[in-house]
Amino acid sequence: MNDVIFKTPITSLKGISGARAKLFAKLDVFSVYDLLQFFPRMYRDRGKIREVMDFSGDEKALFALEVVKPLTSARIKSKKTGKAMTVQHFSAADNTGTVKITFFNSEFLKNTFVTGRKFLFYGELERTARGISMTSPEYEPYYEDYMPARIEAVYPLTSGITRKLISSCVKQALENYKDDIEDNLEPDIVKRNGFMPYYEALWGAHFPKDEKTLENARKRLAFEELYNFYLKMLFLGDKSRKGKAYRIDYPDMRKFVSFLPFKLTYAQKKAIQDILVDITLAHDPGENAKNKGKRFAPPARRLVQGDVGSGKTVVACAALYACAKSGFQSVLMAPTGILARQHYESIGKLLSNFGIRTVLLVGGMKTAQKRETLQMIESGEAQVVIGTHALIEENVKFKNLALAITDEQHRFGVMQRKALEDKNEEDIKPHTVVMSATPIPRTLALIMYCDLDISIIDTMPLGRKPVETYAVGTDMRSRVYKFISRQAKQGKQSYIVCPLAEESEEMLTTGYEMKAAKEYCDALKKTPLGELEITYIHGKMKQQEKDDIMERFADGKIDLLVSTTVIEVGVNNPNATVMLVENAERFGLSQLHQLRGRVGRGSDKSYCILMSPLLKKSKPDSTFSKRMDILCKSTDGFKIAEKDLEIRGPGEFFGKRQSGEFKFRIADVSSDMKLLMKAKEEAERTVNKYGK
Ligand code: ADP
Ligand code: MG
Repeated sequence: MNDVIFKTPITSLKGISGARAKLFAKLDVFSVYDLLQFFPRMYRDRGKIREVMDFSGDEKALFALEVVKPLTSARIKSKKTGKAMTVQHFSAADNTGTVKITFFNSEFLKNTFVTGRKFLFYGELERTARGISMTSPEYEPYYEDYMPARIEAVYPLTSGITRKLISSCVKQALENYKDDIEDNLEPDIVKRNGFMPYYEALWGAHFPKDEKTLENARKRLAFEELYNFYLKMLFLGDKSRKGKAYRIDYPDMRKFVSFLPFKLTYAQKKAIQDILVDITLAHDPGENAKNKGKRFAPPARRLVQGDVGSGKTVVACAALYACAKSGFQSVLMAPTGILARQHYESIGKLLSNFGIRTVLLVGGMKTAQKRETLQMIESGEAQVVIGTHALIEENVKFKNLALAITDEQHRFGVMQRKALEDKNEEDIKPHTVVMSATPIPRTLALIMYCDLDISIIDTMPLGRKPVETYAVGTDMRSRVYKFISRQAKQGKQSYIVCPLAEESEEMLTTGYEMKAAKEYCDALKKTPLGELEITYIHGKMKQQEKDDIMERFADGKIDLLVSTTVIEVGVNNPNATVMLVENAERFGLSQLHQLRGRVGRGSDKSYCILMSPLLKKSKPDSTFSKRMDILCKSTDGFKIAEKDLEIRGPGEFFGKRQSGEFKFRIADVSSDMKLLMKAKEEAERTVNKYGK
């Protein structure tokens, strides 16, 4: 299947040298196949060809101009850097007017812009007293009888790779490898659904003739993406997996519940009940009856969804308790060391009251300690195991594992969850629960988890006060700082979140300045906030260092914690009352909602301030400020998630760092419902036809 283009490196194309290939590698493009699958981020309508005199807009537009004065070149000194450079000028005109066109460091263009030749230019016209000009426009030769592509692909770029380069390489690949590009979909499926052939769809996606072609091409490619996704899900949801029923001692649950310092909400009780029913394998009465007398049946899989702060941890804890009390091992996997440790501390402490032995397994443990922990897990002495990805490493062996819980599941990939399930002795799979704090809109959840059962925790514990939320411009910074300072004087703690840990390439290539945690923290020390106890934390720090900082923060020894998004998931400090998010425009709504969930966890009134250079008093109605409004007005994670999904599509929705399988390049799950259903149907048909 598409072996040739899969194996052919992009350096086989004219124009891609080794150095350029390295740049392409940054975009995850290695083979000709990758390049063909490197789809535009969006499309731009260049509109029709304009006339110089008639056009008065200040946006980019398309002009057909003939060179009337040839290109001349001059040496100048750059005003910014003081470095020597060259500047090129020439004039080109249509019937209505003449434009002076300028390029920089492009002496080679003198053979291109020769008097009498006609080109299409795409750029911004500037009108000054000295005439009409245009700087560094895009251009291509103009032919009388050739209509330029009105719709133009816009690719995600990296520095050194231009749209033009990508377009010309894609075109080359499509032409040179025409015979090697095979349709991955069965002809039956293509026919049944009236799809465009793959080769045509590739042309249509990269060089759309018109809207209709583009839409058909997109549909065809999106379908394939969804179809492959379903095939994978069906394969993972393999019903031949073996699980078994465990006997849970119900009366013991009351002891656990009455020991808690609060009353469980109804939704929490229901979720716990659901999980216990799963473990005893009574989840499907029909199936259960069928399985009567058999020792094995497929294990249950459940998604527990609840907004930030809805109290999922105690639900997990109850399930872990039930397993331990009934003589089985259970495990809880968290996405970060900070979170795993926090769970270990709170859950371990609670469970120790019942004589239950809990262990922690994370990366970076001392060898001796790790060996001992592994041994305790393998022997079953550890009744409850809490940890990070370290749990799915080769050398971890569980003993009689009845239940595997994954917290903040969207941070893990399907494969990682499966690896955890496969860890049990023999080949009996534990029952699984995945807990999600990202409220996934129901439609999407159904799609993604196919055969998963869902428990929703839709009520908040009593007495929670909504977090007061404000979206402000950077001009409010000093007022916000003063506010944080006042809160600190009252003994309250604050978080400041910046999008990136260190100066990165992304930072250099995006237009505005990014606030990096360390630098930001250093700068803060020079402001009035400098008198507070400030520390920063970021994802690349050593585990020990992170744990120490979080511990000091939890103990109230730090007033202000500057952080990257490592604190996004699950951290619990009820004494923190302010969350300031810098560059809020860099985050999705759901992510911001998660961040906001870090405060308002205690009885004090809490505040979330979303700051962004895009929020200007002069533009109160920008799309961005409207987006921020959603957050200021709503605390309903589901509603916010739905908006987020609408705005960003499912790929972004799950965050950049997630493991990738829900990232669709082309399909848009929020609007492609019909296509989704088709893909699901076809995938099921294929699986039934060929088996797994
Ligand atoms: P999340 O669902 O975001 O993981 P947590 O489990 O961390 O939320 O719970 C948030 C806070 O709410 C914790 O401090 C927890 O002790 C508390 N909590 C959980 N359930 C209840 C309840 N029923 N009543 C009061 N407080 C609760
Ligand atoms: Mg949590």
